Amino acid sequence: MASSPENTMMSPSVWHPRDVTEAWTFKRLLESDSAYVAGGTLLRTQWESGQATMPKHFIDLSGIPGLSGIEEDDRALTIGALTTLGECRRDARVAERCPMLASAIGSIAAASVRNLATVGGNVVSRVGDSLPALIVCKAEFEWCTGLSAVTEDAFEWAERLQVQLPKASNLLLRIIVPYVKATELVPRRFGAYHKVGRREAFTPSLVTVALGGGMKADGSIADITIAAGGGQTLPHRLHGAEKLLKGQPIGAELLRDVHEAVMNGYKPKSDPFATDAYRKKTAANLVVTELWKSRSASAAAGEEANRDGA
Ligand SMILES: Cc1cc2nc3c(=O)[nH]c(=O)nc-3n(C[C@H](O)[C@H](O)[C@H](O)COP(=O)(O)OP(=O)(O)OC[C@H]3O[C@@H](n4cnc5c(N)ncnc54)[C@H](O)[C@@H]3O)c2cc1C
Repeated sequence: MASSPENTMMSPSVWHPRDVTEAWTFKRLLESDSAYVAGGTLLRTQWESGQATMPKHFIDLSGIPGLSGIEEDDRALTIGALTTLGECRRDARVAERCPMLASAIGSIAAASVRNLATVGGNVVSRVGDSLPALIVCKAEFEWCTGLSAVTEDAFEWAERLQVQLPKASNLLLRIIVPYVKATELVPRRFGAYHKVGRREAFTPSLVTVALGGGMKADGSIADITIAAGGGQTLPHRLHGAEKLLKGQPIGAELLRDVHEAVMNGYKPKSDPFATDAYRKKTAANLVVTELWKSRSASAAAGEEANRDGA
């Protein structure tokens, strides 16, 4: 047969592993000539735009039992890596137990994409908009790394990404999101997630910011985690700002210092759409605004308690 573009172009092979170990074994054998495929929404855009070369082998994760769905127990929500973003977004337990994650997931793409795209694919993309929220929620990632499953803190995983690429054969199994409850010592919890893009919805992010913490009855911050990402920026924690806030009551002077610490600690990547200076200022403004709101909410709750007690 004469050669033509149609018959010289090879279609990739699609492998359908029956379980996690088989999927992992395929990946180890086929190495860089292969890719795990979940919803395929990100991979497809990367191949179409030429950002990545389509490999010869797809390892389709969608048929592996036990990797999708959401479960709850008295400690945490467990979200299977193959659970779609749409399913997470519609799940009342995610909305109730981790509103910040529900909000982050709701900001990703549009419903049609969310119905295919998975939460695992969003994490493994390394720049998914859900990642700052998962870091702040103190989520854990459970991976198949061969013979055993390994659980790693989302924050530690993201921190390691700053210096080293993850092993391509590691297969994300599930995401564990612990509940964080108010206690007698730390009676008020607060949290917020923001995504800023070039339009209101269905937009890639320029800046994402998540923060969550606890406030004591005297208004001082007992604990706080702040993370930022957006665009092609690997999400990271803003340790300098966290350190300034710990143990302190929120006030105007402190917030001025926190603003500066976010400007210094957030390391966004520039692109033709927004400079890093714009992104830093946006993140700093969002962080201090949310902190000020939590201070006002705490003051209002205190006044109400005093009135009730009077
Ligand atoms: C129109 C459009 C808009 C989008 N908007 C956004 C947006 O606003 N915010 C955002 O964050 N993303 C966005 N995305 C990107 C993408 O949809 C999401 O990141 C999505 O969650 C990826 O999930 P997926 O299942 O489709 O991943 P896939 O494309 O299947 O895979 C993504 C990567 O993860 C790997 N992978 C997938 N699952 C696993 C696993 N369980 N273990 C190990 N590796 C795995 C794949 O090998 C691949 O490298 C958009 C995409 C499109 C097409």
